[in-house]
Amino acid sequence: GINQEEPTHVVKIVLIGDSSVGKTNLLTRFCENEFTSDSMPTIGVEFGSKIVEINEQIIKAQIWDTAGQERFRSVTQVYYRSSIGAFIVYDITNSESFERLDDWVREFKEQSELNAIPMIIGNKCDLEKEREISKEMGENFAKENGLSFIETSAKDGTNVEYAFRTLIEEIYNVL
Ligand code: GDP
Ligand code: MG
Repeated sequence: GINQEEPTHVVKIVLIGDSSVGKTNLLTRFCENEFTSDSMPTIGVEFGSKIVEINEQIIKAQIWDTAGQERFRSVTQVYYRSSIGAFIVYDITNSESFERLDDWVREFKEQSELNAIPMIIGNKCDLEKEREISKEMGENFAKENGLSFIETSAKDGTNVEYAFRTLIEEIYNVL
């Protein structure tokens, strides 16, 4: 099976964004297809990995989680080292997390490799009634920064696999 094959590439992707936007749940949803409703701010898992096949290439995506460091409003340099992609996540029901995107984009650009690719994620799209940030606002922010944008729900799984595959495909094009 595919999981026994040697990957042709290993890509390190980091999850960044304010605390409680859903980063840890996006990681577990993608890597284990699970959702935890009472996840701890500092969960034990620091990264997960998953094998994906793109263009007949076996790619191992190594996805790093902040383990709660983002509560200090930035994460350490070590976290970004050798990362080639990032999910910069906000919560569509929390405008403060959206307003902080600029800071996270800047931090990622300062700390990561020159050719690294960030992607903007608006998470919790299952909470339509509590929405504070329209899809258009997310799209506009991404457009202004020349980045891709996808709304996801780690809770019901909407677009999670799609977002990871899209980012990996974008990364793979520059490898
Ligand atoms: P992190 O601090 O960014 O890692 O956020 P967590 O993954 O720990 O999630 C914070 C809270 O938001 C938890 O109570 C999750 O259950 C909840 N949560 C995460 N993703 C979603 C989502 O897509 N939809 C909904 N409704 N809740 C979510
Ligand atoms: Mg977390």
